[in-house]
Amino acid sequence: MRLSTIVVGGGIGGLSLGRELALAGLSVVVLERAPKLATVGAGIIMNPNAMAVLEANGMASCVRSRSSPYLARDTYDHRGRRLATRDYRPLYAAGRLAIGALCHRAHLHECLSDGLPAGTIHLDTRIVALEADAGGVRVETERGEVFTADVLIGADGIRSTVRARFFGPNEPVYLGYRSHRFVVPNVDGVEHFTEFLGRGKRVGLVPIGGGQLYVWTTFNSPHKSRAWALESVGALRTLFGELTDSRVRRAFGELESTDGVVCTDIEEVRQPAWARGRVALLGDAAHALTPNMGQGAGLAMEDAAVLAEELTRAARGETDMPRALESYVARRRRRVETIVRLSRQIGEEGQLTGVLACWLRNRRIRREGRSLARTQAALERLLAWPPRAAETA
Ligand SMILES: Cc1cc2nc3c(=O)[nH]c(=O)nc-3n(C[C@H](O)[C@H](O)[C@H](O)COP(=O)(O)OP(=O)(O)OC[C@H]3O[C@@H](n4cnc5c(N)ncnc54)[C@H](O)[C@@H]3O)c2cc1C
Repeated sequence: MRLSTIVVGGGIGGLSLGRELALAGLSVVVLERAPKLATVGAGIIMNPNAMAVLEANGMASCVRSRSSPYLARDTYDHRGRRLATRDYRPLYAAGRLAIGALCHRAHLHECLSDGLPAGTIHLDTRIVALEADAGGVRVETERGEVFTADVLIGADGIRSTVRARFFGPNEPVYLGYRSHRFVVPNVDGVEHFTEFLGRGKRVGLVPIGGGQLYVWTTFNSPHKSRAWALESVGALRTLFGELTDSRVRRAFGELESTDGVVCTDIEEVRQPAWARGRVALLGDAAHALTPNMGQGAGLAMEDAAVLAEELTRAARGETDMPRALESYVARRRRRVETIVRLSRQIGEEGQLTGVLACWLRNRRIRREGRSLARTQAALERLLAWPPRAAETA
């Protein structure tokens, strides 16, 4: 059987699925609403699990060609006193994890779209109708095009149209904080992923290759507030003024205007069902999570790899479509829920505001950081791909 797939959404998850299906020799179209494949001006952390997926699908060398290796993550308090270092190098040297990469989002998107056969992506596509029944799926666009296929995948992000159409309304849950992101010259030569923990505020500095530094923040902010400190560079610097380390000061000092600074609500999608009949959700459409572990894109890539395996089984006649999609969900659910929960907890701790609560948090991070063997085991458990047997059981 020659199985065909329509993917709605040409973000990281949709492009990854397109690549996986094309490699499996299956027919796929990716329908993207945006007129061009553009992305926010920010960096992205490709954790070892994401890089393992990219190694398997042949895209890792492209991503690594313009990136920094993710060697260690250094955590400091608001004044720049070191709390802990998570060193990935021993795990890389022992071949236990794929080497993580820190890069610009635009570069990652470029690699992923270059990895697709010509004609796979249809840009500037406004969907006006989505239908699915036992016989197949059908998508109609504003331009009057009609796409039909065996299966429809919603990889259309946190406010997914496919999710709303087939699974009902489900608004993302706001978690009480927001995040700024921007890219500046790496004047201090920051080598590692470096984060600073304040009270209700954090700043991260991430070298992404080419002499560039990706800067992210988090700050507590009531849902309805528009006080995002984007009116001027001065306002932004003031908001994070309590983080006094010179590297933070210099990174903010490099910012000439707030025009390119992105500010994003931190939200989760808590979606009970990810598949129904011939329709399934992938990536943020199914399980948008907080960015505290740098795992949203990694999980979307893992979803794509697993879903492609299941669709390949359906194409070979080893299973039918609803069962293939159920099997995809069954293989993904537990791991995704673990990472969503851990990531949320890291955010809750990171956004604490009380002096005592922050002091206790910092003390715990310092203490746990000393236990090297435990840290390494935890990293391997979370970041190995494919997951070790205990994780999938
Ligand atoms: C502040 C922040 C920092 C982050 N940092 C990291 C990180 O360092 N590492 C990491 O792994 N993850 C990170 N993430 C998460 C990561 O960005 C997302 O999880 C990832 O982009 C999800 O990919 P996706 O393809 O599911 O969705 P998206 O990237 O949102 O892509 C969805 C695509 O669908 C398109 N679309 C939407 N609706 C339609 C429609 N109706 N028709 C057609 N197309 C449509 C959109 O235009 C878009 O191109 C971060 C997230 C945030 C908020």
